[in-house]
Amino acid sequence: MKTFEYERATDVASAVATLDRAPNAKPLGGGTNLVDLMKLGVERPDLLVDVSRVDFGGVDELPDGGLRIGAGVRNSDLAAHPLVRTRYPALTRALVSAASGQLRNQATTGGNLLQRTRCTYFMDTTKPCNKREPGTGCGAIAGLSRELGILGVNDLCIATHPGDMAVALAALDAVVVFETVDGEQRLPIDEFFREPGDDPTRDTNLPSGALITAVELPSLPVATNSTYRKARDRRSYAFALGSVAAALSVDEAGLVTDVRIALGAASPVPWRARKAEEALVGSPATPASFAAAAQLELAAATTTEQNAFKVPLLTRLVVGVLSELAGLDHEGDDPAEDVDPSPFRPTGANGSPRRVAADVEPGTRNATGTDGSAS
Ligand SMILES: Cc1cc2nc3c(=O)[nH]c(=O)nc-3n(C[C@H](O)[C@H](O)[C@H](O)COP(=O)(O)OP(=O)(O)OC[C@H]3O[C@@H](n4cnc5c(N)ncnc54)[C@H](O)[C@@H]3O)c2cc1C
Repeated sequence: MKTFEYERATDVASAVATLDRAPNAKPLGGGTNLVDLMKLGVERPDLLVDVSRVDFGGVDELPDGGLRIGAGVRNSDLAAHPLVRTRYPALTRALVSAASGQLRNQATTGGNLLQRTRCTYFMDTTKPCNKREPGTGCGAIAGLSRELGILGVNDLCIATHPGDMAVALAALDAVVVFETVDGEQRLPIDEFFREPGDDPTRDTNLPSGALITAVELPSLPVATNSTYRKARDRRSYAFALGSVAAALSVDEAGLVTDVRIALGAASPVPWRARKAEEALVGSPATPASFAAAAQLELAAATTTEQNAFKVPLLTRLVVGVLSELAGLDHEGDDPAEDVDPSPFRPTGANGSPRRVAADVEPGTRNATGTDGSAS
């Protein structure tokens, strides 16, 4: 590991001033992603500015009924917060589907947003990767791409944003609040994450030296009827192969009046499915409409042989989640049925392809730091 300096910040202003003075400095939140990447030689900061003891505030109600979530709020505490559980259940479900109880107790809201892709080529410094080292190429496109992106990708990078929380935040119209030496600024989550374009090294539009201080959720009545579903190789402690955060309102005639859909593990950004949403408003809330809307969104997918299964997987996740939110008794929502066996797919003890696990039970932090999901 490269040597580096360490400073503990006491408040936002001093942290931002230090980050501004030392261009190759990085804030340290829970350290669960940054330190791992430093050990691998992928991240090589000269200075860590530890912000884990800075008071960013907790989870506070805004005057309009929305929420302000301080950047230092731990993922477990956010998931368990009563206002999050009741007003934004998709966020609770996304958070508890991520990592393990121990990691969620350590991981912060700010750090979770900025966690980096889990693409094998990015994490292995012996492999070509335009995101890690511009101009070296993308090993994944003709290599191991089963987990990688199908929407918003290009020929420089097909890495996915790996997180769950940000997918829920995308569906819930969150705003990221950050501080620079020029003062406080804000970016809607859609503008916060960025597609690779001609510079895949940048995952977000956060200015250099900026410190995330909070995430704000607007008051969103539809969000009380929201959820998150994640398909993955194991039921717990695994990143998504595909996921969906959604919120839905249906009128007495059975027509969709409001809908929010975001897809995870599909793109370098948490993917807001706006085409599907537009198609659904005013349409009957039926599995057939949900499937047609998902197919419309996924028509733009660019797939490899290994990740083409994500199109039917995500379609079925969208249909399953929206059917659940509409209160329909829909049987065809097991995403495992659509995952093709591939030589790169983990196999069970007898060599047969392992089923992909979908869904999680929401859980809360308990005294031992574990939760309701099996780890
Ligand atoms: C084994 C394992 C399994 C996992 N599984 C999942 C999963 O299934 N789903 C999932 O979503 N995540 C998963 N994770 C990732 C985990 O959620 C992240 O590591 C964690 O959320 C990062 O938060 P942190 O506070 O530890 O960030 P850190 O590691 O401290 O920082 C991450 C990045 O954010 C920056 N940063 C931190 N705080 C701020 C701030 N306030 N302002 C600006 N920049 C900041 C850092 O400089 C760094 O670049 C897993 C991790 C592990 C190790």
